[in-house]
Amino acid sequence: MAIDKSFGSNRILKACSLNVAAQETLVVIGPSGSGKSTLLRCVNLLEPVDAGNIFFEGRDITREADKAHLVRREIGMVFQNFELFPHLSAAENIMLAPVRALGMSRADAHDIATALLAKVHIPEKADAFPDELSGGQQQRVAIARALAMKPKLMLYDEPTSALDPEMIREVLDVMAELSAEGMTSIVVTHEMGFARRAADRIIFMEAGEIIETATSDAFFGGSVNERTRRFLDQIL
Ligand code: ATP
Ligand code: MG
Repeated sequence: MAIDKSFGSNRILKACSLNVAAQETLVVIGPSGSGKSTLLRCVNLLEPVDAGNIFFEGRDITREADKAHLVRREIGMVFQNFELFPHLSAAENIMLAPVRALGMSRADAHDIATALLAKVHIPEKADAFPDELSGGQQQRVAIARALAMKPKLMLYDEPTSALDPEMIREVLDVMAELSAEGMTSIVVTHEMGFARRAADRIIFMEAGEIIETATSDAFFGGSVNERTRRFLDQIL
């Protein structure tokens, strides 16, 4: 089950094993280069693993590279730098995958985009282009775009680390609302306020290893091991 992944002779993920239960929110923390993004990319089949297995809804998807695009329809991903299509409006960014991948009519996809923009609290921005939106608004469009495929799992890779401080909260609020509604999520973030609010469990990674997995209560109750503590002392 544990995942191993090397780039050349660099062993990046060392026997990493994790489970995410339905409706759970898992927060992943750890120093730069510890393998957090690589772990997410393996879950999403964006990177092939060298050893170990990835199960999604009880199905072993590890060697299903040829069907990776089908798996990815059910797993939404949000990146640090939003990665919206600059030539498309907010609504069109959200409509793209349902229309292209699912063959949905533009009218139905537009209804979904309208509903999702309301859900991320920017119903008035449907016709705005990315460069007309703040970073926080762009990231909320990116979340809405991921939600348009009705994913069963959301992956967030440092979704607020490129944002100005005053915009971080509005994005974390949307993520916390989704978690509270039962969206299964893996969130790489160092926003410990979010972790305290929304995480069921927290994982600490270092040098490609999962050093610690703790429930939110245990973690914020202070019962973390020495290496996790040292990392927290640096970021808090
Ligand atoms: P950060 O907090 O800076 O985002 P991270 O924990 O997400 O770091 P990763 O991006 O997963 O870390 O990278 C882990 C290690 O794998 C790093 O040493 C990185 O240089 C290496 N790495 C990542 N992707 C590749 C790649 N495509 N080819 C070679 N090495 C890679
Ligand atoms: Mg990363």
